[in-house]
Amino acid sequence: MNPHSIIEQLIEIVTNNKLTEKIFVVPSHRDGQLVIQALARAGQPVLNVKVKTFMDLALESIKPVMKKADYKQMPYQIGKQYIFSELQKLKANKQLNYFNTVQLTPAFSQAVYQAILDLKQARVSVQTFPTQAFLKREKGEDLYQLFQAYEQKRQENRLLDTADIFELAMQQPVAPKKQSLYIFFPHEAYYRIEKEFFLHYTKGEEVVALDFPAVVGLEPLPSMVPPTKNIESHHPFSFLYQIENAPSEPDLVLKAAISEDEEIHGVFRELKNKKLPFDQSVIFYTSGRPYVESVLRFVQKQKLEECVTFAEGVPVNLTKPGKLIKGVFQWMRENYSIKMLAKLIREGCISLNQIELSGEKVIELLQDADIHWGKERYIQKLHEKMTDLALKIKEDPSNTRVVQKLERYKQLEKWLTPWMERFEGDSTWSTISYKQWLIALKDLISIEDNSNNALNTSAKNQLIEAITEVEHLADGDMTLGEALNDTEQWLMKLTVGASMPKPGHLHISPHRIGLYLDRPHVYIVGLDNGRFPGRQKEDPILLDLERKAIHPEMTLGREFVKRNFYLFVQLLLTTKGHVQMSYPFMDTVENRRSAPAHIFLQAYRLLTKQPSVTGEELVLALQDDVHFIQKETANVLHENEWWAKQVWDQSQLDKEVFNEVSFMHLKQAELAREARRNEVFTEFDGRVEYDHDKLDPRKNEQLTITTSKLEMLGTCPYKYFLKHILYVEEEQIEEFDMYSWLNPPTRGSLMHEVFERFYGRLKEAKEKPQVEQHLDLIIEIADQVLSFERESNPPPSEIIYLLERQEILESCAVFLKAEEEASGEGDPLFFEFNFGISGQDPATIDLANGESIRLSGKIDRVDRLKNGLYAIIDYKTGSSYGYTEKAYFNGGRKLQHSLYALAFEKLFTHQNAQVSSSTYLFPTLKGQGERIVRKHNDEERQQFLTIVEHLCDLLAKGHFPYTDAADDCKYCDYKIVCQRHTYEEEVLAKKHEEETASGALRLKEVRSYD
Ligand code: SF4
Repeated sequence: MNPHSIIEQLIEIVTNNKLTEKIFVVPSHRDGQLVIQALARAGQPVLNVKVKTFMDLALESIKPVMKKADYKQMPYQIGKQYIFSELQKLKANKQLNYFNTVQLTPAFSQAVYQAILDLKQARVSVQTFPTQAFLKREKGEDLYQLFQAYEQKRQENRLLDTADIFELAMQQPVAPKKQSLYIFFPHEAYYRIEKEFFLHYTKGEEVVALDFPAVVGLEPLPSMVPPTKNIESHHPFSFLYQIENAPSEPDLVLKAAISEDEEIHGVFRELKNKKLPFDQSVIFYTSGRPYVESVLRFVQKQKLEECVTFAEGVPVNLTKPGKLIKGVFQWMRENYSIKMLAKLIREGCISLNQIELSGEKVIELLQDADIHWGKERYIQKLHEKMTDLALKIKEDPSNTRVVQKLERYKQLEKWLTPWMERFEGDSTWSTISYKQWLIALKDLISIEDNSNNALNTSAKNQLIEAITEVEHLADGDMTLGEALNDTEQWLMKLTVGASMPKPGHLHISPHRIGLYLDRPHVYIVGLDNGRFPGRQKEDPILLDLERKAIHPEMTLGREFVKRNFYLFVQLLLTTKGHVQMSYPFMDTVENRRSAPAHIFLQAYRLLTKQPSVTGEELVLALQDDVHFIQKETANVLHENEWWAKQVWDQSQLDKEVFNEVSFMHLKQAELAREARRNEVFTEFDGRVEYDHDKLDPRKNEQLTITTSKLEMLGTCPYKYFLKHILYVEEEQIEEFDMYSWLNPPTRGSLMHEVFERFYGRLKEAKEKPQVEQHLDLIIEIADQVLSFERESNPPPSEIIYLLERQEILESCAVFLKAEEEASGEGDPLFFEFNFGISGQDPATIDLANGESIRLSGKIDRVDRLKNGLYAIIDYKTGSSYGYTEKAYFNGGRKLQHSLYALAFEKLFTHQNAQVSSSTYLFPTLKGQGERIVRKHNDEERQQFLTIVEHLCDLLAKGHFPYTDAADDCKYCDYKIVCQRHTYEEEVLAKKHEEETASGALRLKEVRSYD
């Protein structure tokens, strides 16, 4: 075991000063506690020891002054908020010169606030502001204005920031203390004000400054307090940069893994295989992302959450309360879309325990209420729905289904009303009170009971605490959008559940704070050169050159890499035993190889004692071990690896697996796959074959058949099977689209209404349509219908409304022109003519063999022609794709014209009505008023009835083959379910030609009618 050089120094000091009070002056309390634990483990009695940070010492010395003067410590967020409001004010008054064009985001105001704090910690005040130090004079002037305003506001509110606390502490006379020994722990970075405070505070006191052990050949970091005694180290890693002089080989293993997740799995594999105790091991990471999430995901899946501790906690957005907040913010940004709310409910972030409805039921009701999006629509649409249901109950009180539905809506209302009222503002640009916003947010977190484990409970408490701290002092108004950005930037940065190492727990820690963790098994992940030692990042507000000019001891951005690297080497020098270092071989996001960090290569050189080994040689040496699939069964760590190994080794699953009851579904899948691959028409290709007549409309008098069903059956029987027999529905969630208002069905019915009203007015006036005379009339009607629509269905913005209105008005003009041209042929007689629905009788059509079927539908318009015959008009608001003059039936896909004609004739047999033609009219800009006319005659009527017979045979047999034309699948919603594209076309053709597939053969016959 290698000794820990800092603990060694401490043992000596503590032994020599047993009875003296010893004050450990540490960068953080955590370091102090870890050191005390390490000393105790080393058998060193720790008596008369106190652990203090600079801030503890400063606060202790000014406590009475603060109390007397009623000073309070200022939360960081409040300071940031002061700067944000001041920036807004200065910008609005055109008083900014350098930052005038910068977008005022929370991130920007934070950067400015941090620059002001950095200046104060370098002991710069408003009076000593170094205007000359700035490369651009205007920047200095802007910062000065902000600094001045910030100080004024802070003083008005009697608040003290960190720098003020140290300044105030330094103004206090040095009080005589009881004799203590101050032991100063090395700080890797420091502020001038902290250093001067410490020197002031310990004037005349005994101070011992510990030293970082030297690394041969590496320049040490500048020290805040020079070490009392320089120490050397004989640790094998001390010779990382003088390999030839290394006295011994380090106990080191270097590994590459295919990805970051695999690095983490590799560590757990090692712990498992070597049976290493969790509490003797630690994982250090060079960057929190993605390693913390990767560990969390793994331990949650393996139910090991209670066996790990995270030194810095986990990002709050990985917890349920964090997801709730993030999701609610997103919901607001997406204009309160139902889709986002449904996601939150499904993820279990919203508890709904005050009502007796499941999450799925709530989602179903919300979707059914036609809300889609828009804050104001929630309650409005909910009430509309409830009124509608109440009316239905009044008409038929025995309808238990409707009664139950209304009860469910009442339950939903109980939850939804307070939920929607919680937050102010209807849109992201509404002005709200920042304080009220924070209160509402806190209220939401408190009410939602999603703290089902220690991590979620800790997240809930920390979020509430963080908001409470700021809420007391928050004031002023801002837009909802600004509040969302500000709060998200601040709250989502929180990490929760931070913990000290615990017995029985594996500890996960960033390498930066690992110096005093003395566990014997050390795993370091994330050693690729993209991640470590990191990039030089200069502060964009206070440049390094300016910092140097302000004070020579100001921390520079470009020194970050040096400090990070030095700390890492120090960490290596504190390791007691085995160390494993790893890096991800692939950047899986960019899909390219990543390279190891320089220190990883150097460690390899030390290990192999070859100072001139290159990076390529290192990669070659490690790459053999990089794989997704485990070679040895003993190395398999979790279920996925086990499955992957099974399939990889034999290209298929073991036969024994199929015999396990729990894997019967796999056996079924294998069977289905086999069946789909061979040329026989089976139950996996739509061959159902039932022994009843329920689905055949010729036998079942309760069934009426509609155009859309018939055309679907004629296009693709398999689709009919999925939709009308299995009732498979695609989930329809409309997303809020700020660039579009009316969806195609709404636009279609809106235009139908305009045309109907228009003809109603012409009828009253006994006029024929004429562009010149009636353009204003149709526009007036269209505007009335549009205004009515926008009341219940608001457009996303006025500009989108105007654009869509324009398009509809132009379509009306196209319609009017087309109608004028055709006006000599006849007059409209019926609009929206229903049969078999809305209480109207169906049309019964006789087939051969004395059988009949019942038809239902809605005809857009029926015209009486001059010759006494009738014409069916069907408005198509889409494009004319698929409607050609030639393809009369289009192989059974287009049947509506014949169906409507027959139905109308049948319903008006008493008047001997005859329909001579059906017209598909495309009255839109896209369709340019095109008319596709289908003439009717006896031959065509006979053909139609034959097609219907064939299609009924499919239903009678229970044969639902896939369509024989891949073109039909182009816009089909069921592609993902049916998987037709995975079949070979020849195999499909063979299946459909099979003699026993008599029903399927009918489809071939139908296709012959073009
Ligand atoms: S994707 Fe093609 S085969 Fe499948 S259901 Fe749709 S139309 Fe039929």
